[in-house]
Amino acid sequence: MPGRTPFVAANWKMHKTRAETSAFLDSFLPAAGGRLSGVELVICPPFTSLEVAVERCAGTPVRVAAQTMHFEHEGAFTGEVSATMLADLEVDAVVLGHSERRQLFGESDEALARKVPAALAAGLVPILCVGETLAEREAEETEQVLSRQVEAGLVEITEGDLAQVVIAYEPVWAIGTGRNATVEQAAETIDFIRSVVTGKDAGGAAAMRIIYGGSVKPENAGELLAPDAIDGALVGGASLDPENFAAIAAAAIR
Ligand code: PEP
Repeated sequence: MPGRTPFVAANWKMHKTRAETSAFLDSFLPAAGGRLSGVELVICPPFTSLEVAVERCAGTPVRVAAQTMHFEHEGAFTGEVSATMLADLEVDAVVLGHSERRQLFGESDEALARKVPAALAAGLVPILCVGETLAEREAEETEQVLSRQVEAGLVEITEGDLAQVVIAYEPVWAIGTGRNATVEQAAETIDFIRSVVTGKDAGGAAAMRIIYGGSVKPENAGELLAPDAIDGALVGGASLDPENFAAIAAAAIR
């Protein structure tokens, strides 16, 4: 990853109260300031724990991301929050298009085409998740699916802004299943995603962090994060434990 800072994010999904968030940080922040320097570290707590996470992470190298947002600035969208509201909380980033949002909550490519620029406009780093299902991989449709998701998510992004976006390649069949992609599959697919972005803007594509997600754990992180193509990880289950998350982040250090 020439010149690209590794990026490792903890997607806690619907886990951790405010007290549990604080307890995680009690343990994780000392490691973050020390042996993990050189990695961009992000935690993605549920909405209710964002404020305490932002307060606790202020002045530390750990950044805070939300797990979703609406593309409108405000309006009659019960249950939603906007990029403006996240920025007001001093949140740094937002996960967009996670496969659980796509599959369980109907998040569409059309919505993501509006969310990515809305996040950037509010000063948030969009972490755009893309990935194929097992049926799509077996039908050899992986490249077609990923091209569509990447093109849609970045359709409104101008050249100068591409480098601000992080893409997480998360094969749906590897998320929460304990079955990770092989390092060859992950590196090859990430190379493909970078080639799609290169079609829009070669400089932006070279600078963009493209990370892998799907059953990353301390035991496989060293192998999965070794290739130059893979700029870090989006970690679900294993990120709930501060020591496990620190071990994974350490594997991303170059
Ligand atoms: C995720 O939720 O983004 C994820 C990769 O989950 P897990 O690490 O549990 O597979």
